[in-house]
Amino acid sequence: MSLKVFKDHFGRGYEVYESSYRKKEGFSFFLVKGEEGKVLVISGEKVPEGVSFFKKHQMGGKTFFFCERNHENLEILRKYFPDLKPTRVGLKASFGTGDRLGITTPAHVRALRGSGLFPVFAQQSVRENERTGRTWRDVLDDATWGVFQEGYTEGFGADADHVKNPEDLVAAAKEGFSMFTIDPSDHVRNLSKLSEREKNEMFEEILKKERIDRIYLGKKYTVLGERLEFDEKNLRDAALVYYDAIAHVDMMYQILKEEISDFDFEVSVDETETPTSPLFHIFVVEELRRRGVEFTNLALRFIGEWEKGIDYKGDLGLFEKEIKMHAEISRMFEGYKISLHSGSDKFSVYPAFASATGGLFHVKTAGTSYLEAVKVISMVNPELFREIYRCALDHFEEDRKSYHISADLSKVPEVEKVKDEDLPGLFEDINVRQLIHVTYGSVLKDASLKERLFEALEQNEELFYETVAKHIKRHVDLLEG
Ligand code: ZN
Repeated sequence: MSLKVFKDHFGRGYEVYESSYRKKEGFSFFLVKGEEGKVLVISGEKVPEGVSFFKKHQMGGKTFFFCERNHENLEILRKYFPDLKPTRVGLKASFGTGDRLGITTPAHVRALRGSGLFPVFAQQSVRENERTGRTWRDVLDDATWGVFQEGYTEGFGADADHVKNPEDLVAAAKEGFSMFTIDPSDHVRNLSKLSEREKNEMFEEILKKERIDRIYLGKKYTVLGERLEFDEKNLRDAALVYYDAIAHVDMMYQILKEEISDFDFEVSVDETETPTSPLFHIFVVEELRRRGVEFTNLALRFIGEWEKGIDYKGDLGLFEKEIKMHAEISRMFEGYKISLHSGSDKFSVYPAFASATGGLFHVKTAGTSYLEAVKVISMVNPELFREIYRCALDHFEEDRKSYHISADLSKVPEVEKVKDEDLPGLFEDINVRQLIHVTYGSVLKDASLKERLFEALEQNEELFYETVAKHIKRHVDLLEG
């Protein structure tokens, strides 16, 4: 076959990704890595219509076309292999793997392939794209090339995460994303900052718009034997926190429906200050349903601290009690999953979360894959790691602002004094983890650091893939129980 012919003739100049090999309609397709980086090779009498190539070679009775891994060529590949297009996840248990570098998907495929969790390999938030200088197209294409490289054909989702405005939403829809996570946090009110009088006045304003008191007051629910009822005070508070936010979600939903018809829709109120109580959860669902918003996922703000890049901080027993209530509510209303954000490294909560939800869940991770990548740098290029570390220190105070973390810089070690072989061990320190976690944008904005970081990962590709895959697998195993 053409793979063997290729290896016989180009074995020295190119490394072949054998798992990427696919055939269709007389063409063979596979990825190789050579001096010019990763290249798509197509073997056939000609190239499929629309594909561009930069060189061709005839060897052993075969013609090989060397093609750039660009968007246009990928679009043609997607026509030949529809499994390279993201699809809806629906209500299957699922797991999102954000990749800020755009080269990590092969590792994610290895961690999730054959598991019971449906993967969402393309997942990035608007904030991450701003900081990494990437676009929706970059995110989706990079993940898809990774899927192609590993020869994965079982389907994956693409999540436009934490979208706040219609422009970003429509842009992601046009690029072919299959899942949209709406973040209405700019419209969420923070109760702790309001006096009773202010709360009453604001509620009056809402009632002028719509008499929701007539819908909810006195409405009762029984959840796991506990009686919940809307009264004047808790209805007021629920409306203050969520009424405008849900109106915003509704507006975004209508805009998306104009654009595409089949998609997963997630509503995320996870980055609010107040934890979502069971009654607040009910209010959000009732309001979304009343407005006709069909959503597949709901991300709540759970009790306890959900900091980036480290395990859960809080009372596990309390979390377990709460998640049981929330899961029961989601079963009561049916038709959506509970979504868990900041899922990176939350090992201690996974067993309770998975068992309470009974598989009706989605989990998102992103930063932890970046952390593992930088950990690989600390193993293979200590000096480069120290530079990254210093860059992180320089930008930490600015970069941390929009992230929920508690790292204390006075507790991080002086990296110059740490021996080379002890550098990977720094990733067990939660302060170091968060320091590296939130500063990815600054590190990747430094062109020289970025280039050397990518180069080091490329040169140690298998170690990089295996390190990330092993770490993500730890998440997956705990969620599968
Ligand atoms: Zn989130």
